[in-house]
Amino acid sequence: MSAAYEATSAWAQAQDDADALRGFRDQFLIPPHEGRDSHYFCGNSLGLQPRAVRPALSAELDYWSELGVEGHFKGRLPWMDYHEFVRDDLATVVGAQPHEVVAMNTLGVNLHLMMVSFYRPTPERHAILIEAGSFPTDRYAVESQIRFHGYDPATALVELEGDEANGTLSLAAIERALAEHGSRIALVMLPGIQYRTGQAFDLTAIVRLANRHGCMVGFDLAHAVGNLPLRLHDSGADFAIWCSYKYLNGGPGAVGGAFVHDRHARTTLPRFAGWWGHDKTTRFQMGAEFVPTYGADGWQLSNPPILALAPLRVSLEIFRRAGMDRLRAKSLRLTGYLEWLVQARLHDVLETVTPRDPERRGAQLSIRVLGGRERGRALFEYLMAHGIIGDWREPDVIRISPTPLYNRYADCLAFAEAVRHWAGRG
Ligand SMILES: *Cc1c(COP(=O)(O)O)cnc(C)c1O
Repeated sequence: MSAAYEATSAWAQAQDDADALRGFRDQFLIPPHEGRDSHYFCGNSLGLQPRAVRPALSAELDYWSELGVEGHFKGRLPWMDYHEFVRDDLATVVGAQPHEVVAMNTLGVNLHLMMVSFYRPTPERHAILIEAGSFPTDRYAVESQIRFHGYDPATALVELEGDEANGTLSLAAIERALAEHGSRIALVMLPGIQYRTGQAFDLTAIVRLANRHGCMVGFDLAHAVGNLPLRLHDSGADFAIWCSYKYLNGGPGAVGGAFVHDRHARTTLPRFAGWWGHDKTTRFQMGAEFVPTYGADGWQLSNPPILALAPLRVSLEIFRRAGMDRLRAKSLRLTGYLEWLVQARLHDVLETVTPRDPERRGAQLSIRVLGGRERGRALFEYLMAHGIIGDWREPDVIRISPTPLYNRYADCLAFAEAVRHWAGRG
């Protein structure tokens, strides 16, 4: 593979010119740095704004000003059913059937709503398995749910320590934890991609292991959605949740999403209900009895925020045109190039935390600076000051995520050259 890459701007330029997806970059607004495009590697944190967002928002504002309440029924995309306009594209992105997904709320809210239904602890089985060092929301959510049901996180929260170099987690470690604790674990709750290490998990394998022990399985796909091609339905997961402002480019605080497997489409498990989850055909009879809509829609509480869904809608159209498989193919090569640059040109300055095996990662490389945290901070600040936008995660990780929709090979090379310059190498 390494022979396929070269660290010259002529080579990077030729790759960008030959890239079948290169036109998609023009559909995004790239934040400028000193009058030129910055090298934006932060799509894992806040994806960029599609140019189509502003006109889409404008159109909804026009409907509001011209139609008032009638906008719920009139206009090109009546607000009444607005969440349905993103459903098919969302289902394609996560590999689900359309009735298994819904765009609603935000990640943290959806996690709680899903746990209300799918974390049903009993005295014999009330533990939750998560990864140590999980994202704070995930930890707070599972811990507070455990307490809410009257159990003690000290015993009911099983946190799996990374067993591999760099703190990543092997499937064997998950298997061992389930062999040891499986009979008391009610829910396995793991990420699709770990936010700090960038490790991708094998969802299907995890579900298979967990089901062997009778555990429910939920996934947090914050860093996986729009990044890896997912096969959520086939994985057999009970539920999944995600946010849409990272790789999905849905905008700051965008409407999140949830997946509920088809086998639960008509579940009688408890849920927290609201009128928008009520069967659509009888919702406006305003009856006293809650009759849930079939599928994931039945977990909705409120009528959808149109101004927040409009950007997600146009962004998902871009994903439809690009296709997750094509995006992944480019992503493998683009992140592969970044990794090659780090290994071949910067190995005396940087080390990667993210697994080397491309099947075990998405777009993101988590990078550590040799020589400790202070040097890491110094490099990070140097990069930011030079228009190379990544992010910093305590204690010592710089996350750099070339995203295939708008990043170029030239961006990866610019990163490598800036690091060499900082380190006094070139
Ligand atoms: C980004 C992220 C979140 C954010 O949650 P919000 O409810 O959208 O604020 C939660 N969990 C993980 C793993 C994340 O990466």
